[in-house]
Amino acid sequence: MSTRLLPRLLDALLSRDPKQRLRITRSLLAANVFVACCLLQLYAAWIGFMDFDDVWRLSGIIVVNCLFWYGFLRSGANQRYADPAMTLPQILSALTIIGGAYAVTGPVHGSTLMLLALVLVFGIFNMKPKGARIAGAYTVVLMGLIILYKTQTDPVHYPWKLEIAHFVLTAAIVPTISSLAAQLSSLRSRLQKQKDELAQALTRIQILATRDELTGLINRRHMMEVLGQHQKRLIRSGHHRFCLAVVDIDHFKRINDTHGHNVGDEVLRHFAQVLQRALRETDVVARWGGEEFLLLLNDTAPELANIGLERARAALAEAVLVPAMPQLKVTFSAGLTAYDDHESLDQCIDRADKALYRAKRDGRNRTVIDATRSSADNPAAHSNAEAALPS
Ligand code: GH3
Ligand code: MG
Ligand code: MG
Repeated sequence: MSTRLLPRLLDALLSRDPKQRLRITRSLLAANVFVACCLLQLYAAWIGFMDFDDVWRLSGIIVVNCLFWYGFLRSGANQRYADPAMTLPQILSALTIIGGAYAVTGPVHGSTLMLLALVLVFGIFNMKPKGARIAGAYTVVLMGLIILYKTQTDPVHYPWKLEIAHFVLTAAIVPTISSLAAQLSSLRSRLQKQKDELAQALTRIQILATRDELTGLINRRHMMEVLGQHQKRLIRSGHHRFCLAVVDIDHFKRINDTHGHNVGDEVLRHFAQVLQRALRETDVVARWGGEEFLLLLNDTAPELANIGLERARAALAEAVLVPAMPQLKVTFSAGLTAYDDHESLDQCIDRADKALYRAKRDGRNRTVIDATRSSADNPAAHSNAEAALPS
């Protein structure tokens, strides 16, 4: 119970969302700079260089600032902004506070300069080039004004000869850090861009590896994987029977020869669409090669699967395959068979292929159902049962 208490407490304090948690943790980590700033003030007051009243005032502002950013981030209000980490506003408020510390820490004020640099370093990891430039310019202007004011009002602790050195140091170091932040930011965007391009290339490779480019149907290799999954599912469950059909466009060569390869391609594309639309959503159509397609017809027996094929045949008779030639029609022949328990996929495809051959031989534009069963225990195994279904 107590072992779970700490993670739950951290979840409540830092949020469960990993991105929000990182933002809040980083903001709290930056509060370390403020702790250093408070300690420095206390030390300055203790050795008599600074007023305790100023210490409490500045420490109060620091605590309010830290609580404000914690509350802002924890409430999720930050997520409405382009940079939900609120890097630039947090950095500008921290720079202002450190500028204030510079003004009130009297003889030890020089030490606060290092904190300025530290605050800017926090921005290096998150800021955009523009943000880095704004933070840099803001620091130089702010410190310039504070130094100017202090050399006039407290020349004992802020002698202009020393303050010039401080200002030159600030004006040299701060833009350097800003420019490093800007360079890192563009490096980050370049890396992000490359990462996106890589992800896109990967998606494209996956599409190329599984899809046929011309028709958009799944290709032969991927179809074998899909068939393998269905085969396993059938073996495991004992149901989910399926049929395979090899479909081949009749006299397709003539289309190429008469109208050209481009028209042939367009016919193939539209033919694929007609097939897909006519079949059930759970059926799978693959381009098997050239003008041949392999159909996986799920949860059905051949006679019922043939209804889908006849629907496709009817749709094909109606379809306009090439808009410029609405009269151009094609027909197809098909060999259809049921997958038999425990046979190999190749055996099943081979049976469908032979049925297709018979459909071609018997005059095309028809489906032949091969009802031969390959299992040895099947009495019909050698009867070569066949049902030709001319349309
Ligand atoms: P059958 O009725 O006996 O099937 O005759 P067919 O003319 O359809 O069959 P055949 O095997 O003689 O010719 C198939 C043609 O399909 C030959 C080939 O050039 C063409 N083909 C194969 N792939 C493509 C392709 O991607 N685009 C085009 N346009 N034609 C293709
Ligand atoms: Mg053909
Ligand atoms: Mg062929």
